[in-house]
Order: sequence, then structure tokens, then C-alpha cells
Amino acid sequence: MVSVNSNAVEDKNFNFHVDRFGDIEVLRYEVPEYSRLTLDQKKMLYYLSEAAQMGRDIIWDQNGKYNLQIRQLLEKLYTKYNGDRNSADFKAFEKYLKLVWFGNGLHHHYSTDKFQPEFSQAFFEEQVSKLHDCCLPLAPGQTREQFMATIIPVIFDPTVMPKRVNQDGSQDVVATSANNLYGEGVTQAEVEEFYNNMKDPSDPTPVSYGLNSKVIKENGKLKEQRYKLTGLYGPAIAQIIYYLDKAKEVAENDAQRAYITKLIDYYITGDLRLFDEYSILWAEDTKSDIDFVNGFIESYGDPLGMTGAWESYVNFRNAKSSERTETISKNAQWFEDHSPVDKRFKKDKVKGISAKVITAAMLSGDAFPATAIGINLPNSNWIRAQHGSKSVTLENITEAYDMASHGNGFNEEFVIDANTRKLLEDYLYITDMLHTDLHECLGHGSGKLLPGVDPDALKEHGSTLEEARADLFALYYLADPKLIEIGILDNPEAYKAEYYKYILNGLMTQLNRIEFGKDVEEAHMRNRQLIAQWIYQHGKKKAKGGKDVIELTKKGGKTFVKINDYPKMRELLGELLAEVQRIKSEGDYKGGNELVLKYAVKVDPKLHKEVLNRFSKLDIPPYRGFINPVYTPVVNDKGEITDVTISYPEDYVQQMLRLSRDYSPLTKKSNSVCTK
Ligand code: ZN
Repeated sequence: MVSVNSNAVEDKNFNFHVDRFGDIEVLRYEVPEYSRLTLDQKKMLYYLSEAAQMGRDIIWDQNGKYNLQIRQLLEKLYTKYNGDRNSADFKAFEKYLKLVWFGNGLHHHYSTDKFQPEFSQAFFEEQVSKLHDCCLPLAPGQTREQFMATIIPVIFDPTVMPKRVNQDGSQDVVATSANNLYGEGVTQAEVEEFYNNMKDPSDPTPVSYGLNSKVIKENGKLKEQRYKLTGLYGPAIAQIIYYLDKAKEVAENDAQRAYITKLIDYYITGDLRLFDEYSILWAEDTKSDIDFVNGFIESYGDPLGMTGAWESYVNFRNAKSSERTETISKNAQWFEDHSPVDKRFKKDKVKGISAKVITAAMLSGDAFPATAIGINLPNSNWIRAQHGSKSVTLENITEAYDMASHGNGFNEEFVIDANTRKLLEDYLYITDMLHTDLHECLGHGSGKLLPGVDPDALKEHGSTLEEARADLFALYYLADPKLIEIGILDNPEAYKAEYYKYILNGLMTQLNRIEFGKDVEEAHMRNRQLIAQWIYQHGKKKAKGGKDVIELTKKGGKTFVKINDYPKMRELLGELLAEVQRIKSEGDYKGGNELVLKYAVKVDPKLHKEVLNRFSKLDIPPYRGFINPVYTPVVNDKGEITDVTISYPEDYVQQMLRLSRDYSPLTKKSNSVCTK
């Protein structure tokens, strides 16, 4: 049983708030129970953290080809500026730099829209003119004039590289996306043909094509540039390998040593078969206390969903809370067998889904500063089917979000009445956490593709529909008496807290993250609106007494979500789950496309405006992320590490500048020392 208030917070005076700018709030997270780790575990965590931070530059370059150059220039201007740091131009410049740090590049991490500077081009050019040539991050052979002519429109012209990931299927999503995963002149049709020729439909264990490469055009022909020691990002990968090697020496057991070795071999060769072998060994290691992800993993940054964004998580097990997820995963087959999905699309045998709750200790790459609260890996479909997957819930991160939100006025503004607010206060924290557990450890792992179905068949809607599938599975089972029976919930009404919040978010409050006049773009947001809108539309007149299952009702001129029939809502969730699973299992692109376009993309402008207005009075940031703690080895006279301390000495700016100074293997060379 999990208590409602399972606070793992150790220090009651811990300050979660770090910085606030634009639509972003930066928090810090606590690392509870760090002190229980042994010296070898602390060393391992330290080396893995170094390996994590050494990859930071990679994601910057993947996100846009001018990102690293521009970051160096902005940081130089920021630190060398000797005018009035309270002037409007400088304040706007500082805000821009903070946003760029948060986006790991010039585009918003979530909307993927380019940031628009609020300082003048004249101010910028004047500041740059004060820098000596040796302070400018010029590319080899590049002159100051060429450099400026390139970056000025990239920074200031809203029509140049406007979107990092364009998912508008009516356009060439490769050519119109500003990311750096495809070279100049490469088109979507060419990439699709390139990989279709490579794929063998009869291969039961295909590698994840394109996962670790940039596709470029050379003499009119496409070719892959691999991310590997002697290839693209080699200098960063060399540093990652160096620290992985150190971590290997203090690994907890042979299984862990084996997969670290395999990961190093993969980084050296870029061979995706080795990555699969590593992934299998990693997924099968459920014993180790310290664990990590380090590599090219999630493909949301690629409009075709193939290339992995570099990321790293370092963590250790939260033993107490892991009992909860272990119970869920022990019952995985029961959940699979009883789901409302057609039998043909179910797994006969759910392969070892191991689930645990973890304490995050270091976030990096695509997982930093904005991070996920749950992860389920590996992503390869056949590995998941044959070897299972590992699912984790990042409890100290969820905890930090929760602690930082107390008393922000959200519930008073958006939740319909005192009873519902009480329900949310009592049960939202635990049901939210359970939703993440169920989503990651059962949802993504459930179901199967029919033989011969291409895992990429749903194309630009693949991510949205996959997230919808996992969310629906989780929501459907949150209301199941099974959760009471196996002892992980103590109240059969608790699920209503998550149902209410989910619909409120999907129909209304997540619109706060979208600029007025724009559509819903990001995969997770589309998924949430898809589910909420579908249930809303299909629940008309379906509740007891002929009412609507979900109502949008007015009170004092404001719109509120009212749920009239929770059990009926659960039935509808089951229906939609069956349909989304069918689409996935059959690779029905047409069906998926219809569902997404009809429910997930368009926004009611009147409601959108109202939500933005109501939020603007609350000053709640739509997006949040984290800075990391600092780990410092204590070294004795003989050069041996005798301890690794943890501390939180920095603010956001200090941490970002330190990372760029100490962990930038891809920028060092052009970063010549200027003494002027
Ligand atoms: Zn997911």
C-alpha cells in the first residue's frame, strides 16, 4: 500500500525554485538517500554523471547546425558585457540566452518553434563588434563577415529555420524541419526510399535504422554519417567512452559490466547490431542498484521518428516505492489478458516487464533541463517482444514538481468545485504516479503488431498514437478493482482524481502551452487532446439520465469541466484503446491519420483565449525543467577517491556557463583563448 503523502523529501527547507523566464520555470530536485550509497556506488554515479555531461554538445548540434556556434557567441557576449546589465536590451538578451540554454538550441524544447529575440539587431551587432576575432566562434576559414551574414537571419528572421520539427504531413517534413539530422537538399521522399531499400521486411530482428546517423547528400546520392568514435561527434563520444570505462571498473556486478562493455563497443563502431545487443543486456539487468541511460534514444526530434536524440539519465533504485511497480509488473499478464483489445492484437506472453521507481541523480542531453517523469526502454519493438523492457518512474522529479506547485492557485481557478478539489488534493499525487507507472510498465509494453506490419507505418503520427495507446491503457486500468485487490490503491474512487485532471488538461489547461492561433503539435499534447476530445464527443447523451459523460459548463462566465459519469468514461476509454491498438497492430496509417486530424490538432479559439487569460492571472509557468546537483570527488594524498559529495551551489546561469566551460568537447577547438 502506498500512502497518499509518500514524501521522500529529506530536507524540509530544500528550495525547489531556481529561476523563472519566458514560459519556463527552472527547479532543482533533491536526491533522497544519496547518503546510503557505498563508496563504489558513489564513484560509479560520479563517472556516469561525467559521461552524461560530456554528451551535452551532441544534442545541441543535433537540434540545429548553428546552435553550438551561436551558444558560444551568446555566452561570450553575456560574460564580457560591461554596459548596464539592467538595460532593456541586456535584460532581453539575457532572457533569450536563458531560453536558448533551456531549448538546447534556438528552438523551444516542446513547441519546437524558434525563439524570437526581444533585443534589437543593432544592439546585438554593436556588442559583437566589440569582440576580437579570436573571441568569435568562427568555423575554419570563415571570416567575421561571413559568420555574421550567416547567423543574423538565423537569429532574427522568423522565416529562417522557423521550426525544429515540422510534423505537417502536407509538406516535406524533412526539408522543412530545422534540425540537423538531415543534410542540405535532402528530401523526405529520398530518405524514405533510402531506408525502404535498406529494410528487409522478412527480417524478424531489424536494427533501428537511422538511429545513430545523419543522412546527407553527396554527388546526388544519400549516405549516412554515423555518430561514432571515428565519425560524427567523435570528440564527445571519446569523452563518454573514457568515463564509461571508469564506471565499468566500479560496476556492481558482471551483468552490468557486460552491458557497459557492449555500449562502449557500440560507441566505438557505430554498429546498430551492437546497440541491440547492449539494449538486451541492459533490459535484462534488473538487479543493479545504480542504473543509467546513455545514448541516441528517443526519436521525437526527427519528423520521421528514426534518428535518436542523444540523452543520459543516471539514477539509483528507490527500494520502497519500487514495491509498487514490482507488484504491477508481476501482474502484467493479467492486465494484458483482461484489456478491452481484440485478442489478435494481444501478447500471448508478456515478456518480463521490469518496473522500478528510481531516484534521478543526473540528467543530460535531450533529458535536460526539461525531463521526462517516466521512461520505458528499449524502444525496439522486437526486443520489447522477445526480451522485455525496463520501465522506470522518476519519483524525486515528480516530487519536485509537486512540491513546487503547492499553493499556485491552479485548482482554485480551474477545478469545478470544492469536492473535486478535495478529491485532487487527496488522490492526484498517487494516481498521477500510478498513471506514469502503468503507462510505462504496462502501456508501452502491451499489444503486438500483426506479422509483416512495418513498425514505422504510422509515420508522422507514430509517436502520438503510441503515447495515446500507453495513456489509454493506464487510464483504463486506474479504475480497475484489480488495483485495490493487489493493494496499490486503497480507495475505489481514487481514480476519479486522475480522470478529472486528465480531461481538464486535455480539453483545456494544456492549451496554455500553445500560442494563440496555433495548432496542437507536440506528440504527447496531441495524444492528450485526442483522448479528451474523443471521449467528450463520444460521450454525448451517453451518461445515466441521458446526460453527457463530460460537460463543458459555464460558471460566472468561466468554462469548467464537469464529469457526470466516471464509469461510463472508463468504458469509452476502453473502446478508444481497442481502436488505437487496432490501428497500431495493423499499421493502419489512414485510420490513424483520420483520428489525429479529427480530434488532436485543432483548437477552439474562444476556449483557447479564455484559458490563456485565466492562466495569465496566475503566473504559472507552462514548462518546467531542472538544474542538476554537483558531485565532487574527495581525493586523498595518494590520488584515491575517498568520497563523492553532493551539493547544490549554483543558480541556473552559473550551471549553464560551467557546463559550457567544462563539458564541451565539440566546441573546444574553435574556442581559442582570447586575452584581449
Ligand atoms: Zn510514453
